[in-house]
Amino acid sequence: MRCPFCNFEDTKVIDSRLAAEGGQVRRRRECLACAERFTTFETAELVMPRVIKNNGIREPFDENKLRAGVMRALEKRPVSIEKVEGVINQIKRGLQASGERELASRAIGERVMEALKSLDHVAYVRFASVYRSFQDLNEFRAEIDRLSRESDDVAPDATAPDATAPDGART
Ligand SMILES: [Zn+2]
Repeated sequence: MRCPFCNFEDTKVIDSRLAAEGGQVRRRRECLACAERFTTFETAELVMPRVIKNNGIREPFDENKLRAGVMRALEKRPVSIEKVEGVINQIKRGLQASGERELASRAIGERVMEALKSLDHVAYVRFASVYRSFQDLNEFRAEIDRLSRESDDVAPDATAPDATAPDGART
């Protein structure tokens, strides 16, 4: 592909590895003319179902919108971008595997909630409180109580050493 710095037409791949739990290939490239380096991410393009909004309007599935929603829920949470991409790929695979040509945005929201639940409880509650708009405060509180009981049984991920840190970097 073309160099984004000098527009030269050829670049060479100097490193290639799997990312986002195998859902992406990450490549380091070097320009043969100016020697600048940059990274590309490659993902398979598969047909996603169209989204039926609450008002009945159909629109194409928007991965950036999904990522923005997930990132907002995960703001200031100890979750790596690698895991975020893993969850997004998981959600996308689930939508593709559903075999539906159209899906209600609500059904997609439920899938995002399920995925966040296993990733980070705080993010799950944040997302759910916006998306599901709990009927009343008691229902919301009951869900939070249930989650905190669950997390008492399981050691939080955040204390585990990050074995996936690139190039052995520890920050
Ligand atoms: Zn260049």
